[in-house]
Amino acid sequence: MSIYQEKAKECKCCSKHVPLPTRLKEYSGILVCPTTFDNIHEYRRVWSEIGKRPPGSIRKHFSEYVQDIVEKSIDKTD
Ligand SMILES: [Zn+2]
Repeated sequence: MSIYQEKAKECKCCSKHVPLPTRLKEYSGILVCPTTFDNIHEYRRVWSEIGKRPPGSIRKHFSEYVQDIVEKSIDKTD
């Protein structure tokens, strides 16, 4: 098992990625891949723009994992 395979296990979405990410980022104490990291920030941006949980038409573009992380981080700060 390579160092990248070991690290990728930290991001829950990464079992489906090909190729695996080589660098992970941290959001709210959680290690995620750059794709998830970007999506978290975009989902959060939309959420603050409209002031509530985005509707299904927007949510469908984000994985359950991304939505889950953002919802937890929003609960913490409220
Ligand atoms: Zn990932």
